Amino acid sequence: MTRVYKFGGASVKDAAGVRNVERIVRLALQEQRPLTNDGLMVVISAMGKTTNALERVVEFLDAGKEEQALNQWVDIIDFHVAIMKELGLQPGVDIRLQGEIPYDPTLPFDENYDQVVSMGEIMSTQIIAVYLLKQGISVEWWNIPKLLRTDHTWREAVVDSETSASVIRAGWNRANRPQVVVTQGFLGGTADGKRTTLGREGSDYTAALLANYLDAESVTIWKDVPGILNADPRIEPNTVLIPSLRYQDAVELSYSGAQVIHPKTIRPLQNKEIPLYVKPFGDPEAAGTRIAADGVGPVDVPIYIWRKNQILITMRAKDFAFALEESLSEIFDIIHRHRLKVSLIQSSAVTISVCVDNTRFVSPAIEELNKHFKVSYNDHLSLLTIRDTTPEIIENAKAGRTIMLSQTTRRTARLVVKEEENQ
Ligand code: ASP
Ligand code: MG
Repeated sequence: MTRVYKFGGASVKDAAGVRNVERIVRLALQEQRPLTNDGLMVVISAMGKTTNALERVVEFLDAGKEEQALNQWVDIIDFHVAIMKELGLQPGVDIRLQGEIPYDPTLPFDENYDQVVSMGEIMSTQIIAVYLLKQGISVEWWNIPKLLRTDHTWREAVVDSETSASVIRAGWNRANRPQVVVTQGFLGGTADGKRTTLGREGSDYTAALLANYLDAESVTIWKDVPGILNADPRIEPNTVLIPSLRYQDAVELSYSGAQVIHPKTIRPLQNKEIPLYVKPFGDPEAAGTRIAADGVGPVDVPIYIWRKNQILITMRAKDFAFALEESLSEIFDIIHRHRLKVSLIQSSAVTISVCVDNTRFVSPAIEELNKHFKVSYNDHLSLLTIRDTTPEIIENAKAGRTIMLSQTTRRTARLVVKEEENQ
């Protein structure tokens, strides 16, 4: 049966990372059973911090800073050329990298963003596919913007699964397909041939969609952590690995802000009961975390999840009457239209507060909310969710922190906390 592997940017940030991909791919090929539709679909992100660097290129160009944009672009190309050379590949011979920045000043920012930022995944997959081929692995490179059809919602494109599934299945079931296919995460494409992106960190989602279309036996996300931990090791000193989770736990964790998997990843897998493994790329034989319908859920450890860069917006009626029912639909209509991501909601007799990700969409939304309500807000906040907790643990978490708002149920606490300098 088909297997899907996904490697994130940190796993392919240098030549050693690419060699490690080769090692993991070889291990998979050894394990494959000789079934007709066997194969390994490898989904790869941009190398290291390339996506951030490409974002700066578009921002510079948008601000008319062409020289800075070009310098940044050249740095990105040089970074990839250096990795290629270290891997024994010849730039210009083995791979021809895109020369010019695919930017058109007459187009809107978001459309340009997708054309430019998508180059990170195009480059990383070209390099890795050619490298694997040169190592004697039978591999094919797929240009996913031609296969995964989306609408024109730049930077957060919506996938048309019906069209995509049939195109991708046809490609996969083709006679003489090599065992390994390497393709880009995070990207899609429109019917008129433009590249789109699926939202930052969207490669996990791509892997899940492909697994769904191909009825894969499993998806493995290879990461620089041992699996899903009960807390972020950069924040909490004593973390433990969670070996098994149910789909619903994983959804809740990623919704609360856990960085391990993209929130959209679970649904396509759950629909077909495809298990998801999160494994350390430095130790491919390790068990990692398994997420599936029959997972057992976290056992006896509190789970700490931080969602950073939050803004708490509070709405109050302009006159004294606050008809909650009427206001709610109005508020959420505005929030939805402005693509805000709500992480928490709280209401009182006279106010409604929402905690949302503090993105560029927030200020136009506040402007519109202001027309209907008295709006106040606090930014520089984080949302801390503690699952499977106890009153003592909650008290400890609160100590020394400024708590703007807290919601607790029997087993879960959610604290909106002021971001401290040292976090
Ligand atoms: N390269 C993209 C990003 O950094 C997608 C991904 O890594 O999942 O957002
Ligand atoms: Mg990335």
